[in-house]
Amino acid sequence: MSRAAYVNGRYVLHRDAMVHIEDRGYQFADGVYEVCEVFRGALIDERRHFERLAYSLAELQIAPPVPARALAVVVREVMARNRVENGFVYVQVTRGVAPRDHVFPQKPARPSLVVTARHVDPEKSDITARKGISIITTPDLRWKRADIKTISLLPNVLARQLARESGACEAWLVDSLGMVTEGAASNAWIISKAGVVVTRQLDHSILRGITRTTLIEIVAAEGLKLEERKFNLEEVFAAREAFITGATTLIMPVVRIDGRAIGAGIPGPVASKLRAMFHAAAAARSS
Ligand code: PLP
Repeated sequence: MSRAAYVNGRYVLHRDAMVHIEDRGYQFADGVYEVCEVFRGALIDERRHFERLAYSLAELQIAPPVPARALAVVVREVMARNRVENGFVYVQVTRGVAPRDHVFPQKPARPSLVVTARHVDPEKSDITARKGISIITTPDLRWKRADIKTISLLPNVLARQLARESGACEAWLVDSLGMVTEGAASNAWIISKAGVVVTRQLDHSILRGITRTTLIEIVAAEGLKLEERKFNLEEVFAAREAFITGATTLIMPVVRIDGRAIGAGIPGPVASKLRAMFHAAAAARSS
């Protein structure tokens, strides 16, 4: 079966899917994106992903390319054409095609919309989660609006590459005060020495992860103590557990950071339990 993609109003073969060389996404990374998990045919936390897309677009003054309801139809069509029951949908919107100039086009360009979908076997991620992952830490080199999900990802790319070269899966980014912000493509969490679930509070320094938002509700429903606040590496190394969250990883236990074991050096009970609960709890919340 050939893969299909949606590009600016047309369903095309994935291998032929193209945008113009003067697309502002290509030239300036002037655009935003979303990645939404598909699990057993359903889009997980669809409403929240669409809301965050609207937020990112509004912050950059990019007009929505199509109404949200039309986007939902396109997303489902791309899923169907690629027969994606489990995997991910990728949505990207850029400011559109215009002669190269830093300022916004005088004659507003039509925003470019691209939608793709990819099958991924969820069992693969579960196998990884049973072992837990190793991560590294590295300085957070990003701009001061990490709350906008822009396609400008070079610091994230470099951090992930460094992780890969160090034999790790993810990099936690550390701000100039020594506090963890988030992962290169995930939110960062610990279970502190005192047993409190801790993740950094929302501000412009991190992305409002959709998995993070839903997990906070689950943590509250489970009666676990949660603190949204900054934490440093000293606290990380003393933590009982650590984990990351994201649409592509769900809740993924972290067992080593910069080569040092976290807790017992195996996936922690809280992270493992929250992971096992996640899909059912997310589905119950969105119905
Ligand atoms: N933080 C960053 C920098 C990310 O790129 C991502 C996901 O790609 C996340 C956090 C997690 O967000 P979500 O749970 O919405 O996937």
